[in-house]
Amino acid sequence: MPINVLFAAHPKSWALYEGPLHTALDAIGIDYRLGTDMAPDTVDYIVYAPNSPVQDFTPHTRLKAVLNLWAGVEDAVGNPTLKVPYARMVDDEGLTQGMVEWVTGHTLRHHLGMDAHIVNPTHAWIADAPPVAADRPVGILGLGELGSACGQALRALGFPVTGWARSLKSIEGIACETGEDGLRAVLKQSQILILLLPSTPATENTLNSETLALMPRGAFVINPGRGALIDDDALIAALDAGQIAHATLDVFRTEPLPQDHPYWAHPNVTVTPHIASETRVPSASRVIAENIRRGETGAPFLYLVDRDAGY
Ligand code: NAP
Repeated sequence: MPINVLFAAHPKSWALYEGPLHTALDAIGIDYRLGTDMAPDTVDYIVYAPNSPVQDFTPHTRLKAVLNLWAGVEDAVGNPTLKVPYARMVDDEGLTQGMVEWVTGHTLRHHLGMDAHIVNPTHAWIADAPPVAADRPVGILGLGELGSACGQALRALGFPVTGWARSLKSIEGIACETGEDGLRAVLKQSQILILLLPSTPATENTLNSETLALMPRGAFVINPGRGALIDDDALIAALDAGQIAHATLDVFRTEPLPQDHPYWAHPNVTVTPHIASETRVPSASRVIAENIRRGETGAPFLYLVDRDAGY
């Protein structure tokens, strides 16, 4: 009997995913049906985006797992009707690689002071060479799939990298801190700080007036994690005071960022529209298919969300 795989995401995504998901599922050699419309009590797996119309999983009585198309799970992890294993997206070829490129690019922009030369209407000739990477300590809050990959790329360029996670990590060339004291230690030394934490109750406002004040004066903040990691008023105050030289922000509490939000007009804020990285359809489809293969062969699912931790 075929297994039934329901695609439950924004309707626009189906046109993108239908072909690659078939290719990936064909490659694992199982008998399956894939579609967007199935009787709930016949569905074995849901390929899921939290903005899907499916919000109540109760009628899916034979569901084996929900497989997220996104890395972020904060919009679904607390859903009390989602009781089966819930896997998030880890897509090394697409999502992780894209994040490494975005983070590296924005880090180098600030490190090299590129803006002064790209926009120079007065043709100023200020021959201040930037420091080398070895003299620019970088901090990364969140040393998971994305944070550790970004840390390794920055380390390879010569930046001293210190990361912060919930549990101690052993990653070659990257120092790791944990706990409140560890957070303070990372902040104190980070001339460039990258936020790659998930959005959970414990990570909300990780950057606030107190923690921003710990950073070296004139530091840079780069946030491709989630908007709720930052107390926006505190960041704007720190920018106005020169404590933070510039913030490059990809994620916001409200998206799209409202037109009248002070970030848009602030001269020392760069807004990017949640494009730091995105799930790439062919590689993400292979990740989904691999988890279905695991489900069908009794192997443990990859990338399961820890409901208690919220990520
Ligand atoms: P991940 O593998 O789950 O890593 C999360 C990291 O944060 C882990 O190192 C974890 O510590 C740490 N952490 C979680 N809660 C913490 C706490 N309370 N204190 C200290 N450290 C904590 O997630 P990921 O795949 O790297 O993704 C990270 C986030 O990036 C996602 O949640 C999403 O919000 C964001 N994202 C953004 C985009 C974009 O386009 N802007 C794209 C993809 C993802 P442990 O290692 O000890 O568990």
